[in-house]
Amino acid sequence: MEIERHEYDVVVIGAGGAGLRAAIEARQQGKRTAIVCKSLFGKAHTVMAEGGAAAAMGNVNSADNWMVHFRDTMRGGKFLNNWRMAELHAKEAPDRVWELEAWGALFDRTKDGKISQRNFGGHEYPRLAHVGDRTGLELIRTLQQRVVALQQEDEKLHGDAEAYIKVFQECTVTRLLKDGDAISGAFGYWRENGKLILFDAPAVVLATGGIGKSYVVTSNSWEYTGDGHALALLAGAKLINMEFIQFHPTGMVWPPSVRGILVTESVRGDGGVLKNSDGKRFMFDYIPEVFKDKYATTEEEGDRWYTDQANNRRPPELLPRDEVARAINSEVKAGRGSPQGGVYLDVSSRLPATEIVRRLPSMHHQFKELADVDITKEPMQVGPTCHYIMGGVEVDADTGAADVPGLFAAGEVSGGMHGSNRLGGNSLSDLLVFGRRAGAGAASYVDGLAARPKISPDSVDAAKAEALAPLERAGENPYEVHHELQRTMNELVGIIRKAEEVTEALEAVGKLKERARGVGAVGSRIYNPGWHLSLDLRNMLLVSECVAKAALLRQESRGGHTRDDFPGMSSEWRRKLLRCGLSPDGSSVTVEEKVQPSMREDLIKLFDRDELKKYITEDELADFDALVK
Ligand code: FAD
Repeated sequence: MEIERHEYDVVVIGAGGAGLRAAIEARQQGKRTAIVCKSLFGKAHTVMAEGGAAAAMGNVNSADNWMVHFRDTMRGGKFLNNWRMAELHAKEAPDRVWELEAWGALFDRTKDGKISQRNFGGHEYPRLAHVGDRTGLELIRTLQQRVVALQQEDEKLHGDAEAYIKVFQECTVTRLLKDGDAISGAFGYWRENGKLILFDAPAVVLATGGIGKSYVVTSNSWEYTGDGHALALLAGAKLINMEFIQFHPTGMVWPPSVRGILVTESVRGDGGVLKNSDGKRFMFDYIPEVFKDKYATTEEEGDRWYTDQANNRRPPELLPRDEVARAINSEVKAGRGSPQGGVYLDVSSRLPATEIVRRLPSMHHQFKELADVDITKEPMQVGPTCHYIMGGVEVDADTGAADVPGLFAAGEVSGGMHGSNRLGGNSLSDLLVFGRRAGAGAASYVDGLAARPKISPDSVDAAKAEALAPLERAGENPYEVHHELQRTMNELVGIIRKAEEVTEALEAVGKLKERARGVGAVGSRIYNPGWHLSLDLRNMLLVSECVAKAALLRQESRGGHTRDDFPGMSSEWRRKLLRCGLSPDGSSVTVEEKVQPSMREDLIKLFDRDELKKYITEDELADFDALVK
């Protein structure tokens, strides 16, 4: 069987915000670049992003700057973040947003014509550049337009629009190939006709997004099967922070067919409030100690904040997502939930109907179409949904390079930037900042190569045999295995965890791995979703094993990891990262502890001692005291 073969300098896997920004950078640096994506071009998960991109431009409140954004990001991540990434992100996000504008993005405006910025949980000032509640769509449209502009340049210069940047859409990568330690290419198949494809390239940028499809209730789309996470592991890279999963507090809970679909945080940013079945604004009861001085303690003060932020503290509905999700979970468990097992999110009594439709057009449409609820007249019912994974490929902050020479990662598939919990809006800016850096990192890696790594025929044969195996056996239905995995992860490694349940989940995942090795896909290679799922199962199971193993080891509660049996945050654990790899025979996930480097002096000095002592150890505090003396 013929395998289609292509040669590139850089192959970017993923055409969301991170992948497109990386590809643009690699091409701008003169590299022949392929963009490979398993969905249609323009349909990456990023298009679903609603609220906006966080960047401290100071357009709405001039007190905002990169230092405030850096502090908010570290607080949101409960100080577990890779501080260098958080620093680069806070410093560079404004330039990346302005660059998007220069490339044609049409952001909403302030009255004086600047890019408008909206409030979001955990951000001290209005900071999210947005386009209504359809920001991701505009981001992708703009980056795609930039790709097309570069292709038009290439057409003029080389007589071939695709000479330097080409898109391979509906094409799934199943294996990264190596020559010794270094990346030599990627192997995959066309989803439409099942034909096989090989990319010969010394540098690969992973930009494949998240893992939500391992859970039943999720805001994530079908693409989120953790492919990049698994491809990295299988290639010998390490994953960090895999125990931290963000359950967004507000997903739709009704009707069952739409359970998990996101209700944007902008609803709360624009004034929406959470109420229980007694009609009580319960978030005032859930302000944790570490945030006590930053949030309003009365409804009156919280409400005043929307019009006078200088003299009031923000309402607790805008606490970081992990806090709000846990609070909703507790209210429902205490029997104060809505009829369909969520709580109420009300914007109808807070803003005029015309304003709701103007500011939240997609939400208005979504509820009307999917749940027959008019959000200008009645509250929504919402509950937590698996939304984002903070964990991912361990990368060098400046270049996006993973442990494996030639492998780079950016966006949701990478780990570190968001620590134990991501602030809303920090992903879109992360994609732009680190997408650009990974593209540049890959380009300069290629420049520095003495010789191009080679693809061995054996590795191609092995990848081909693995890809075709499910079609060649009459095995178990892959959908059965998938459903069981989703249920297991949702019920046993969900929002609240305990040792016995996570152990049970690990046993179940072990058995599911066995079963997945025997699944079979009925039919041919021509658009066969059963076959595709059979291959995706390997990835979801590997990722789930990482999540569960790390969740069992981390004996504390922090951000997107809540242990019922270890409810407190521990300063000792803050210093440790859990790093997942593969056992030498590749059969199981191993986890090791790694100590985080201490924060650089000029950065740690941006915090008050009173705040630091909530997070860092006595030893670290003594070092801080010596530093500021
Ligand atoms: P994606 O945009 O998901 O792109 C992944 C790409 O990889 C796709 O093109 C996919 O086809 C491809 N791919 C995956 N596996 C393979 C494979 N094996 N082979 C080939 N291609 C592959 N964040 C914010 O900052 N602000 C927001 O307002 C916001 N709103 C959100 C709303 C919703 C409903 C959701 C679900 C998330 C939201 N987020 C938001 C989070 C944010 O949208 C994502 O984290 C981000 O878009 C991820 O971008 P990415 O470039 O990493 O990946």
